[in-house]
Amino acid sequence: MIAKPLKIEAVETILVDVPTIRPHKLSVATMNCQTLVLVGIRCSDGITGWGEGTTIGGLAYGEESPESIKTNIDTYFAPMLAGMDPTRPGAAMKQLRVLFQGNRFAKCAIETALYDAQARRVGVPLSELFGGRVRDSVDVAWTLASGDTRRDIDEAEAMLEKKRHRVFKLKIGARAVADDVAHVAAIKSALGSRAEVRVDVNQAWSEAEAVWAIGRLADAGVDLVEQPIGTGNPRGLKRLTALARVPVMADEALHGPVDAFALASTKSADVFAVKIAQSGGLAGAADVAAIALASGIDLYGGTMLEGAVGTIASAQLFSTFDELKWGTELFGPLLLTEEILTEPLRYENFSLALPAGPGLGIELDWERIGRLRRDATRGASVTVTR
Ligand SMILES: [Mg+2]
Repeated sequence: MIAKPLKIEAVETILVDVPTIRPHKLSVATMNCQTLVLVGIRCSDGITGWGEGTTIGGLAYGEESPESIKTNIDTYFAPMLAGMDPTRPGAAMKQLRVLFQGNRFAKCAIETALYDAQARRVGVPLSELFGGRVRDSVDVAWTLASGDTRRDIDEAEAMLEKKRHRVFKLKIGARAVADDVAHVAAIKSALGSRAEVRVDVNQAWSEAEAVWAIGRLADAGVDLVEQPIGTGNPRGLKRLTALARVPVMADEALHGPVDAFALASTKSADVFAVKIAQSGGLAGAADVAAIALASGIDLYGGTMLEGAVGTIASAQLFSTFDELKWGTELFGPLLLTEEILTEPLRYENFSLALPAGPGLGIELDWERIGRLRRDATRGASVTVTR
């Protein structure tokens, strides 16, 4: 008997509002709540794959919001995907890219769900569909973003004590440059050689401010400067990289393989922050990593502060990279007050362990999600204040 061809039967999107454990201050917004867009793709063999589209500060960081991700998937992506062969994620994604512009985060959520379903179908972890694991855990940095120097030092000390993180990224750029430099220097001085300190400016400085600040941050012992200036000044990023005082990491400047090639071919960064959402999905992020490694650029596994689904999807891919010199910042679930999995992700010994099970290797906790989903609680959530 010839087996019936498999079909995608339905695509479901759920907005889940989860409060953060403390205000998370970035130069673009202060987050008190994170909205996860969970995307489920149900297939005719009874398998449902899950993906996540999550943004930082609603619409404050990029051109997609949780609401736009849900609307565009429900309105455009879902009808197109219905009836397609779920065993061929590459073909489905190609069709999505042909028909619909932009929407990298929404596309990433769909692609993750397709690969989760396919990996479950063949009974392997998702990482095995991307060449297999090089490592069974990934190092995880923590972001200090309370905005208060003393509180940040206490938070870092607690993380070191618990052996949860020993690399700290400081979110700066909202205050005067000299104040930010003093804040960073005080934290590095308190932590000394027990911890690495990096900064993420989220594009907030002018090039002249960056030249001034990077020299002082180098003297203070900072290890890495992330996206110091705006994406509108790519030559400036190249010049800051050429200063060679502190390694420069490209983040917002990196929207997938085309940007990666442009940055790599002009040596405009020392390190790439690879993000599955910014790359338009897992396959795009794998291409970004390949371009970096072929160009002598180091890799760092970035986050959009995803919850458990997007975080473990990222970890599945990052576990396959030949080199991951700067580790990852896959701490998103630790910033949230509620866990949406029946079994939490394993953070231990300064790293996140990759699960052994098929697909993403996680199970969603529907009791919790039922309580937190937006349609079960209230009309909308205010997640952003300045
Ligand atoms: Mg960043």
